Order: sequence, then structure tokens, then C-alpha cells
Amino acid sequence: MNKKPTVKTSIPAVEEILSDLIKIQTVNPPGGETAAAHYLKKLFDKYHIENEIIEPEPGRGSFIAHLGQGEKKMLYLSHLDVVPVSEGWDFAAFSGEIKDGFVHGRGAIDCKGLVAVEACAAIQLAQSGKLNGQLIFAATADEEVGGALGAGILSAKYPDKIRADFAINEGDEPLTMNGKTYHALSVGEKGPAWMKLTARGISSHGSVPILEHNAVVKMAKVINGLAKYRPQIVLTPETKSLLQTIARLDGLFDEIHEGNVDYILGTLRDKTIVPYLSAITRMTISPDVVHGGVKTNIVPDSCEAQVDIRILPGQSWEYVLHELKDILGDVQTEPLQYHSPSFSSADSKYYRLVEETLKEYVGKEPILQTITTGATDSRYLREMDVPSYGIGVLTLNMDPALSESVHGKNEKIDIASLKLKTDFLVKLAQKYLAK
Ligand SMILES: [Zn+2]
Repeated sequence: MNKKPTVKTSIPAVEEILSDLIKIQTVNPPGGETAAAHYLKKLFDKYHIENEIIEPEPGRGSFIAHLGQGEKKMLYLSHLDVVPVSEGWDFAAFSGEIKDGFVHGRGAIDCKGLVAVEACAAIQLAQSGKLNGQLIFAATADEEVGGALGAGILSAKYPDKIRADFAINEGDEPLTMNGKTYHALSVGEKGPAWMKLTARGISSHGSVPILEHNAVVKMAKVINGLAKYRPQIVLTPETKSLLQTIARLDGLFDEIHEGNVDYILGTLRDKTIVPYLSAITRMTISPDVVHGGVKTNIVPDSCEAQVDIRILPGQSWEYVLHELKDILGDVQTEPLQYHSPSFSSADSKYYRLVEETLKEYVGKEPILQTITTGATDSRYLREMDVPSYGIGVLTLNMDPALSESVHGKNEKIDIASLKLKTDFLVKLAQKYLAK
């Protein structure tokens, strides 16, 4: 007989869940997210929350849970995989050690911290039994290398399992400006348009060089051209609003327009946020890999380069080729990775609900509408017409070292931030799915 407990099972501590998840290694590649999905399955089973693992390839499982009944639906989204670990950490990257108020290890912020917080919030909501609608919990595989085996498969093959009125996902970390912390609500993301370039030349003896035939010289000219290229400045309503807010907070009251963006950025007192603000107001181009030549005395007949290009909403692969036509000349181009930029309007009742609830937890300072420079699973939701909003760490006093540890060394998160975000997510769901 299936006998449900009459007393409520106590809710596990969010830091314990996070510590357990960090210990389950899910570095992508190769991934191995199914082990973390099984951990969640066991946890959600304990609280009688309906759930399943979707595993398109062995080891590459995503975990989905559903609770509540009714028409309204909201989605807690996160991902189970993490990026590799480089040398030089001050502590063991997969220890999950809980010490001095922090949980230590790869994924503490990106994104197992969010998995733990959303799991804890979902369990609290399940235990409270007061939902007039459905809460979907999805922790996906494969996000760090593009999401094809995670959110990609879910949105293509099982869209009804994750379709909601809106989604909350990972997002930009709070910005620190002039020593003060401002929280961000990510409404969009740039699209990667990673490009491989191949320059061709004619091989000959290096002692009698014909430089026009030298593929490395040809590539050097292209790279120099890319470095000198000045992209057009583009303001979406959201980036305009963000810049306007930041300028006002800094005591600048100019009306922001495309023509004065660089002037405003040059005037801001806190220079640490300028590279980010520059990146979200234009296409960026970073030539990051070059290979060419085989020997000191052989004129190379081939040189390859890889360029990290990120485009804004409204721009496309064709736009990139058109803009760079003169610089690239006869160098061959090939896409290495391409995703369209995506965004969800900030002019929506869901955005307003999230913003208003955030302010209850982080104070009355303006919430910044940000565009994420990297890619997240949110774009798959946006392609399904599900507005997706991203939120980073919630804290009353952001330590910039924490943001730098994402994809870097010494990743850790403080327990107070985990608890604050859990409370916020519970409140948000209660407000939206209230009886
Ligand atoms: Zn992430």
C-alpha cells in the first residue's frame, strides 16, 4: 500500500542540496548530467512531487518536475552541467565544502546554486499545498555548450512539458557601481556568430619570399582590420532604459541616444562597468585563435582564425558578412556557432511582477534591465514565445569577486544569498499562482 506520510517531511537546507550537487561532477564536455538528475529525482520523490528524467543520450539527462493544478503556469529553469576547471584554485573545485558561510566549488553560482534554490523553493511550495496553478521545474543538460541535448531537445520534442506563461532562469549578476549594488533582470541575450576564417596563399621557400602569397600575412591584415572596425551603436528600448538609469544614478541627466552613448560611457565615474555597457550597445568582434604555417623557412599557403562575434537583437549572420565584406576580402568564412539574439519585452505584466517582487527582497534601488552578453537556455523558451527573465545572485552587498569566479577560479556562493533567492522565488510563485 502506498501510504503518504501524515506529517510533513522537513525541508532540506538549500546549502546542503547545493553541496551535494557540486560533488556530482557534470563538467561539460562530457556532461554526465543524469547523475545529478537522479539526485533530484530522489529528492523530489521524497516529497511526492511528480517528476521525470529525459535522457536523449546515455548520461545526458535533464530533470523536469510538475506541481500544482490549474491554468496558470510558471517555470523555474536552470541547468545541471558546469564548465571545466582550470589550475590554480585555492580549494578543491568539487568538494562542495560548506565553510565560513559559503558553499565552495564549481557550479556554486553557475548554475547549481540556482538548481538548489529552485529545488528548495519548489519543495517549500509543494509542502505548503497552496498553489492555484502549475509550477514547472526544469534543470537541463548541456547548457554550457549550446543546449542542444538539453533545452534544445525539450523545446523541439517535448515543448508541452516546459511551456509556461513565463520563465525564471539564470541571468546577469548584480552590478556594483560606485560601491553600491544594483540587481539586474536579464531580458535578452546577444547571439553568438562565431566565425572560422581561412586565408589561402601559395607555398614557397622562405628564403625567396613573395609576401602577397603568404597566407599568414593575408590573415594578419584581416585581423588588423577587424580590430580597427567600429561597429554601429544600436539601442534597444531595454538597453536605452538601462543606460538612462545608470547615467541618472551617476548624476548625468542627458537624454541617451545612439549618438552620445560613447560620450556617456566615457563620463561614468565607475569604469568597471564600461566594457559590459559597451558590449551590449554594439556588435563585438574578438579574434581569439590563429593557426598558420608549419616551418620557419616555408611560406605558408594556409592560415586559419577563429573570431568570437556577438550580435544584437535585429542583427543576423548576413548582417555580419555584409558589414565585414571589405575587411574579409577573399578570406573564406564559415560559421562555427550561430544563434539568433533573443529578448523578452520588459513591457509586460510578468516583467512587472518579477521586478516588483525583487524589490521586496533587494530594496528600492532601480532594477537594471540587462542584455546578457553570453548565451543561456532562455533563448529556447523565447523561441516558444515564453517570456524568460534571468536573475543572478540576490544579495544586499555584492562582492565583485563572486561574479568573476563564474567560469573562473574559486567559484563559491554565500548561504545568505541562497536563502534570500529561495525566499524570493517562493514569494514570486505564491503571488502568481495564488489561490
Ligand atoms: Zn549557466
